[in-house]
Amino acid sequence: MTSQRPRGRFAPSPTGPLHFGSLVAALGSWLFARAAGGDWLVRIEDLDPPREVPGAAAGQLATLAAFGLLPDEPPAFQSTRGALYAQALATLLARGDALECHCSRTDLAAAGGIHRACVPGRRRRTPAVRLRVPDVRLGFDDRIQGHYEQDLGRDVGDVVLRRADGCWAYQLAVVVDDAAQGITDVVRGADLLDSTPRQILLQQRLGLPTPAYAHLPLVRDAEGRKLGKSLAALPVDAADPLPALRAAWAFLGQPPSAWPEGAPGLALVRAVAAFDARRVPREANAPVQPG
Ligand code: GLU
Repeated sequence: MTSQRPRGRFAPSPTGPLHFGSLVAALGSWLFARAAGGDWLVRIEDLDPPREVPGAAAGQLATLAAFGLLPDEPPAFQSTRGALYAQALATLLARGDALECHCSRTDLAAAGGIHRACVPGRRRRTPAVRLRVPDVRLGFDDRIQGHYEQDLGRDVGDVVLRRADGCWAYQLAVVVDDAAQGITDVVRGADLLDSTPRQILLQQRLGLPTPAYAHLPLVRDAEGRKLGKSLAALPVDAADPLPALRAAWAFLGQPPSAWPEGAPGLALVRAVAAFDARRVPREANAPVQPG
């Protein structure tokens, strides 16, 4: 048996500057990887040009560097990896595990957006491509959230792999890239917990390994809103990393007194020994106060 060196990753979408929620995902994935003696990579998920903010990827990478969160390999950009996604899609289509879909959003509205079969007779010039999803219950054991399962046919339906506008879908790209980059440990926000069973199904269809998953508690503000929509979504200050790093450490359930002395890079290296993954809570203990 070969033992694989652990590899984690942080995979931001370049839709704006890094905010506290993204810092928690970056630091959490970094700590899990380093505590296991593994590598940590950064992948920019720039697959959706309309949602992308020019300069955001460079800004995110500069902020990570200012925080001492330096990847072990040059960052990967999904916009340059289309050939890999095309190959995976061709495999799925050839095996009958994917289908061309001509349905419109209106066609799907009646079923709550869940696709089980195409509406007969529809034709689009450029169809979407979907993964055929059977009526299975698929579960996995999350290192933080515990056992999670989903009725994929009923609750998810056939998953879009390539959109009708030609863009690659996140679900396909994340599965292909996690495997191609040898990721063994996926650590990310709990908003993606319910995407995981469909990603595992896709791994099975493509004959790819399933990594271990750990979904971090979601950052919410005092009103209980997800960070993205709130005041607390203000960018973290790259000129003054320590307060945000300490706050992210505490948010991950680690005792504030265990945060080591030193400048960000040095404190982080020392923090690896103090990090206890078992302390990471399933849900945030306290809301994040803006400002
Ligand atoms: N790009 C996704 C996001 O920013 C994260 C995807 C992942 O970690 O799997 O929410």
